[in-house]
Amino acid sequence: MELQNDSITTMMDFRKKLKNFVDERDWNQYHSAKALAIALNIEAAELLEIFLFQPDNFIPENLDSLTEEMADVFIYLMNLVNSLKIDNFTQIIKKKIEKNAKKYPIKEFSAKKYKKQ
Ligand SMILES: [Mg+2]
Repeated sequence: MELQNDSITTMMDFRKKLKNFVDERDWNQYHSAKALAIALNIEAAELLEIFLFQPDNFIPENLDSLTEEMADVFIYLMNLVNSLKIDNFTQIIKKKIEKNAKKYPIKEFSAKKYKKQ
């Protein structure tokens, strides 16, 4: 199975692709939740390192390193989802977005509120 593009590739496509990758290498023995959570954070730190000592509005001219670290973070997150055998992560994300929407109602938290008129 080949991953296609953002419009047609599903979360399950990523999960299956990564499960195969891990299974083929017999790496499940190394994929405890703790190890994967640590690895995810190390990759997030590698992403942060790109911005270290740069101005606040810094965006690298070449996005390759940035997008590669973003992919590493996503890959470890999906590996964690797989290792915990989470059934429907999409629904979990949906519920979290809904929870955030309730926690931060637009009327109260829109940044537009703080702009000068
Ligand atoms: Mg990396």
